[in-house]
Amino acid sequence: MSEVEKKLKEFAEYLKKINHYTTAGNLMYWDMTTGMPEAMAETRAETLSFFQTEVHNLNVSPKIEEFIKFFESHMDEFDYTYKRMTKQLKKDYEKQKRYPEEFIREFSLAASRGEVAWEKAKNASDFEIFKLALEKIVELTKKSIEYKGYKDNKYDALLDDYEAGLTVEKLDKVFGELRDGIVEILNKIKSTGKEIDDSFFHKEFPKSEQESLCLKLLDIMGFDFKRGRMDETEHPYTIDMTNKDVRITNHYYENDFTSALFSAIHEGGHAIYEQDIPDSLEGTGLNVAASMAIHESQSRFYENIIGKSREFSNYLYNESVKQFKGQFEGVSKEQFYKALNKVTPSLIRTEADELTYSLHIIIRYEIEKLLINDLIEVKDLPRVWNEKYKEYLGVEPTNDKEGVLQDVHWSDGSFGYFPSYALGNLYGAQMLHKMTKDVPGIYEEIGKGNLQPVHKWLKENVHEYANLYDPSDLIKKITGEELKAKYFLKYLDDKYKEIYKY
Ligand code: ZN
Repeated sequence: MSEVEKKLKEFAEYLKKINHYTTAGNLMYWDMTTGMPEAMAETRAETLSFFQTEVHNLNVSPKIEEFIKFFESHMDEFDYTYKRMTKQLKKDYEKQKRYPEEFIREFSLAASRGEVAWEKAKNASDFEIFKLALEKIVELTKKSIEYKGYKDNKYDALLDDYEAGLTVEKLDKVFGELRDGIVEILNKIKSTGKEIDDSFFHKEFPKSEQESLCLKLLDIMGFDFKRGRMDETEHPYTIDMTNKDVRITNHYYENDFTSALFSAIHEGGHAIYEQDIPDSLEGTGLNVAASMAIHESQSRFYENIIGKSREFSNYLYNESVKQFKGQFEGVSKEQFYKALNKVTPSLIRTEADELTYSLHIIIRYEIEKLLINDLIEVKDLPRVWNEKYKEYLGVEPTNDKEGVLQDVHWSDGSFGYFPSYALGNLYGAQMLHKMTKDVPGIYEEIGKGNLQPVHKWLKENVHEYANLYDPSDLIKKITGEELKAKYFLKYLDDKYKEIYKY
C-alpha cells in the first residue's frame, strides 16, 4: 500500500468515527420527536449538545489539519474526486475552526430548548412563550456571523451555510423576478373570477387509510423500505443515519385529504436522494447532498411537478377512489385535478398552493434579513409578519399559531434555510425542462403510476453526484445553463393558463 493509499484509508476511518457520533445524534433526535417521554426533554437537549460538540471537536482537531496538509501535498496524484474531497475538507475545517467549542455547546443547547419552547408556544398560540428562547437563538446566530465574517451583508454568512456562494445581492435579483412573475400570474387568475371547489378534500379521511396510501405512493416513488421507514411527528421531516437508514415522518389530519399525502411525497423526494447517495463516495466526506436547495428541488419536484401534474393526478384519483370507498363519489378526474391545483393566497406555508408558495418564502427571507441586520427586533416579529402577509398575499393572521409561530425553523436556529425552498422550485423546473427532452413520453408513464423513469433520471443526473459539485456547477452540468427563474415561471404560467383559462 502506498503512502497516499494508507493516508486515505486512515482518513476514511476517521470519518467513520465522526459518522458514529452523527448517527447516534440523529437517531436520538428522531427519538425525541417520535415519542420520547416529555420529562426527558432537558437531558436529551444536553446529550444532543454533547454529541454535536464532540463532532465539532473531531472536525477541527489537529488530525484534520494533518490530513489537509498531506492531501494538499499530493494533489497532483489525485483524480477529480480526491481533489474535491481535499477542497471541501479544507473549506469545512476553516469554517468550523472559527467557532469556539463553548459556542457550539451553547448554540446546540439553545436550539434544543428553542424547539421545546416553540412547540409549547405554538400549541398555546402565544408568541410570548417563545420570545425569550428565540432572543437567545438570534443573539447566538448574530454571534456566529461575527465568527464567520462577511463582506457585504451579514445575511450572506447565513445563506452560504445552505447554498455555497449565494449572496443577498444575487438572491434579491432572483427573488425579485420570481415575485413579479408570480404576482402577474396571480392577477391573471384573479381576473377570471373562477372559484375551484375542493370541499371534497375536507371530508373525513381515516388516518390508517391515509397512511396506507402514503406507503403505497412512497413505494412507487422508489423509496426503499429496507433502508428506511415512516413514522409520525408534529411536523413531517426527513433524517438520515446513512444511506442505509433514511427516516421520514408524517402528520395526519383526518379532515384534510392532501396534507399527509403530499408531505409523504415531499419527504419521499428528500429520502430517495439520500438513499441514492453512492457507497463509492464513502470515506471522502462527499457522500452528502449538494446543498439544501438541491435537496428541496428533489422533494418539491415530486410533491408538485410530478405529484400535482395532470397525469399523476389521474393515477392518484384512481388510487384514492379505491382506498377511500365512496368518498369521491360524484367527483370527476377533472374536478380532482383542479382541486389539487386550486390557487388561494393563504396563511400557512406548508398548505400553500404551488403558485403562491414562493411568496411565503420571500416574506420569510425579507423578515430574516431585517432581523439579522438589526433593523427589527425579536419582539417586532409578530407585527412585521402580519404586515408582510397583508402586503404580499392579502391575508392577515388572527393569531400567532397561523402567523409567526407556524414554522419550526427559527426555533433551532436555521436562519438562512427558507430561501432553499424557493430555489428548489427554480432548480426543479429547470431540471424538468431537461428531463422531458431526455425522456420523451415520461408523462405517459407518470400517468400509469410508473415513476421509475423519473427516479432513474434524477438518480443519474442529480442523486449520484452527491456533493461532487457546488450547486451552481451542478445545475450547469445537468442543464447546460445557470439557475434561471424563467423555467419555473413558464412552467407555472403554462399550468395555470390551462386550469384557469386566462
Ligand atoms: Zn423539504
